[in-house]
Amino acid sequence: MVKVVVKECESYDLEKVIEKINSGIELLGGWDIFVKPGMKVLLKVNLIGPKLPESAAVTHCEFVRALIRILKQRGCTVWIGDSAGGAIAGIAPTTKSFEISGLKKVAEEEKAEIKNFDKEGTVDTGTGHYAIDRLYLAKPLFDADFIINVPKLKTHSGCIYTGAVKNVFGCIQGLRKAEYHKAAPNPKEFGNVLVDIHQTVKIGLHIMDGITAMEGEGPTAGSIYNANKILISTDPLALDTVAINMIGLVIKDIPILQAAIERKLGESNKDNIEICGDYSSLPLLKNYKIPKRFNSKKKSNYNAVIKVINFLKTKPKINLKKCVKCNTCVESCPMHAIDKTTKNINYSKCIECMCCHELCSYKAVELKRVNPIAGIMTKLYKGNYK
Ligand code: SF4
Ligand code: SF4
Repeated sequence: MVKVVVKECESYDLEKVIEKINSGIELLGGWDIFVKPGMKVLLKVNLIGPKLPESAAVTHCEFVRALIRILKQRGCTVWIGDSAGGAIAGIAPTTKSFEISGLKKVAEEEKAEIKNFDKEGTVDTGTGHYAIDRLYLAKPLFDADFIINVPKLKTHSGCIYTGAVKNVFGCIQGLRKAEYHKAAPNPKEFGNVLVDIHQTVKIGLHIMDGITAMEGEGPTAGSIYNANKILISTDPLALDTVAINMIGLVIKDIPILQAAIERKLGESNKDNIEICGDYSSLPLLKNYKIPKRFNSKKKSNYNAVIKVINFLKTKPKINLKKCVKCNTCVESCPMHAIDKTTKNINYSKCIECMCCHELCSYKAVELKRVNPIAGIMTKLYKGNYK
């Protein structure tokens, strides 16, 4: 039997969250079997974009504070990492997202370290992955001694639901995410990319922030549902199976999880999942609103998504009028794609990780729309992203 701990927690009161997480971990064998003093522990949060903590779109910063306190008390160094999801739309707002979500402030106050995946370098994990030539992932995922996935309980108007399995998509840096969406255009294919990431990056624990959840048209435009739950498991698929059942769906309703089931990423048979913690059977979240798309005939129209990605496609370009030739971008580019003399970018080498854009202190690495009409629309849209 695979355990999924479900805890009732009605607020982000720090002491309460710490007590709930600690007592939940006890049911899985206690912290000692997961972390040791001196370990570097990476919290892979859900940082979809520059959203306030109370929006329910991002992992709540007080939830992260609770985890930092627990881990630091155990003598660990704590990192908080992600690459924001806005890169899908050709915007790479990770730095801003850490600020607005409150995570930067919490990290400073608790002496944890922010790991902006768009700035930290890339690891080429080689070939043999589904639909894509090579899988490039953020370096801190391989530098950490232990990784805890900290997803948010949310609906997703494209994927119906987003939780522990899908949260690893932020391990792909910057604008590169859009290319993976294109390479794996339908949900099942996309699910295979997620399974590849889980099998490449070894995540030891999954702790879901479901205190305030998002219902309706998530992952950013839904409304807040006070679910008052914390879910904990070593198995991301078992955790998602329980969360999906809690919101009134079954796992076969979620196409992006079909690959996870077929490739046995974890347990999806509820007869083999033991619910423990504050519940011994499934608590239902009554009247939880599912995205309209779930009942729509448009459910399979993924070509539209690809068209949007192509329309919004963006490339980094160096503005020589602003560039002071400090060469930070040249030295930090993991693919050696920037010419030191001319500052031209070799797009056949570029993996659109956004390191250059994030690291240039002079705002000289600009994101240019490949489609000029999209560029005009973006200018009109700027400032409304929040
Ligand atoms: S980091 Fe910015 S200023 Fe420095 S060389 Fe690159 S583009 Fe120019
Ligand atoms: S030029 Fe280099 S650093 Fe910039 S996005 Fe491309 S691969 Fe990343």
